[in-house]
Amino acid sequence: MALIHLASYASQWRGYEYYESGKVKTCQRTDDDQYEGMVSGSNGMIYQVRINLAHPRTSQCTCPHAAGKRIVCKHMVALYFAAFPDEAENYREEVIEAEEEAEREREEEENAVIDYVSKMKKADLQQALLQLLFDGPEWQYDHFIEEHLHR
Ligand SMILES: [Zn+2]
Repeated sequence: MALIHLASYASQWRGYEYYESGKVKTCQRTDDDQYEGMVSGSNGMIYQVRINLAHPRTSQCTCPHAAGKRIVCKHMVALYFAAFPDEAENYREEVIEAEEEAEREREEEENAVIDYVSKMKKADLQQALLQLLFDGPEWQYDHFIEEHLHR
């Protein structure tokens, strides 16, 4: 399995941001499947990172999150993207596509709600409104009172 897919979604994204913002200070190939480099952390610390593409779980980083564990951290992801800029570009495009897809789905759902509500009968609308007011958050109830009952 590819190294970045062993990282959490959060670490993938943070690793991409680290790479993009130039936190990878050095990156060199040290073996067929191995790269080493220095990546600066959010606290100004510099971490020593080694990634192994053939055996990603044996990759190492001196940050507290990954040190001594078999975790793929954001620093490893950042180093990976520094070694393979094309992969960084692919990743960025995948993220943008996923966001656009989520946006489309949200819009479709909103349109379905608008359509559904526009066809509801008055009694059903009143019932639904009361349910939202009494079961919804308090601010919503207070807002309704202010807007409509002028208290
Ligand atoms: Zn790390």
